[in-house]
Amino acid sequence: MELTVIGCSGSFAGPHSPASCYVVSGDDAEGRTWRLVLDMGSGALGSIQRHLPLPAIDGILVSHLHPDHCIDLAGLHIAVRWDPRGWPRGPIPMYSPAGSHAYLAHPHGIGLDPGLTGSFEFHDWQEREAVEIGPFTVEAFRVVHPVPDPYAIRVVHHGPAGDTVLAYSGDSDACDALVEAARDADVFLCEAAYMEGRDDALRGIHLTGLRAGEVASRAGARRLMLTHLPIWNDPVQAEEEARRAYPGPVLMAQADHRYPIPGAGEPDRTITPARVRVDP
Ligand SMILES: [Zn+2]
Ligand SMILES: [Zn+2]
Repeated sequence: MELTVIGCSGSFAGPHSPASCYVVSGDDAEGRTWRLVLDMGSGALGSIQRHLPLPAIDGILVSHLHPDHCIDLAGLHIAVRWDPRGWPRGPIPMYSPAGSHAYLAHPHGIGLDPGLTGSFEFHDWQEREAVEIGPFTVEAFRVVHPVPDPYAIRVVHHGPAGDTVLAYSGDSDACDALVEAARDADVFLCEAAYMEGRDDALRGIHLTGLRAGEVASRAGARRLMLTHLPIWNDPVQAEEEARRAYPGPVLMAQADHRYPIPGAGEPDRTITPARVRVDP
């Protein structure tokens, strides 16, 4: 399984990164590579095209309906619906919170019949109900964030060397469901939008690096990758906070980087990020 960080800027796009967007890829038994997109926040639709052609997206998983996690899907609809060369495959399967179709149709000022149904095959998340997409099993866990139906997402890749697990927090404060989503994950990709000392009065919205580390420890995650730092956060402090609470490897997500994720059965278990060549 491989994780590509398209965007990791917290809450809105930054000068060096779009808002939240990740691509998870993995091969099936026949050797075909499948690609799932986790969130497509502001700015991500442009950047993702440097990494893959849009028709290569096999499925979209949306954590919650905040613009920094999904608004560029409104733009993706145009790319699917109006490409004069045609769209070479059917609507893209999308798993997302209830109300996603109306949320994404609203900026276009269109109704829901047919709305965006020619571009996306909408499926509402059913909490903790496993969904199979190619070689992946995905599951959503309801977390704590001030928006209806916020989810953390657990992605399991069934590969030749066994299962590899990526858990993604979406946006959430600490809660038991987040621990369960991240249980024994090979990588726990976790937001750290807040900082200890500065944001102590704000609860029920986001994690700090420290709280992300505590969740990773409770979950027994094998690696923690911090993401969703807004432009005003100090990444060094976030990483130090996480290390205080979590003894395993801590990585900081970087846009335009690929992270091969070794599964439990693979001999070399280190993650060596590779910067994806980006043409000017
Ligand atoms: Zn966010
Ligand atoms: Zn949010």
